[in-house]
Amino acid sequence: MTEPVVEPAPTIDVFALARAHGHIEGHIELARLARLAPLLAASGGAIDWRLTGAIDSRGRPAATLELHGTLVVKCDRCGLNLDLPIDSESSLWFVTSERELNAQPIEVGESEALLGSRHFSVAQLVEDELILAVPISPRHLHCRVAEESETELERYRPLAALAALKSRH
Ligand SMILES: [Zn+2]
Repeated sequence: MTEPVVEPAPTIDVFALARAHGHIEGHIELARLARLAPLLAASGGAIDWRLTGAIDSRGRPAATLELHGTLVVKCDRCGLNLDLPIDSESSLWFVTSERELNAQPIEVGESEALLGSRHFSVAQLVEDELILAVPISPRHLHCRVAEESETELERYRPLAALAALKSRH
């Protein structure tokens, strides 16, 4: 049996991408994302990503990261698998040093500051964004456990109706 070939994670020069208003896209096999793996119920499939560079309105090197795909997580209520569609777009901008990054105030609704690099790991960025996209307690929108407890209520409803009928007299 031969070992699967592990491709090196794509690295890019984010400053050059921003200056050129360029874009780069690809897809990452979920099985390669080791930090995300414990949050998933199944590691098959891939996520499509697209990074578009720009110089933002404040003159900073920036980018937009788009992600499309599906993660399979476990429903916290019934324990069965649940498809979590990922269809996101995040605004980022890049600083040149750790020091500059730490000096950035956290502004809600603002684009996220990241430490840029000429060898920036797209896989790591995609993995960070996916980890943030998984809810702390994922649940089916229409979970069968919730439906079962409704059926349970249904069973008691005739008794309640009878009680209401009796109290009228
Ligand atoms: Zn469920």
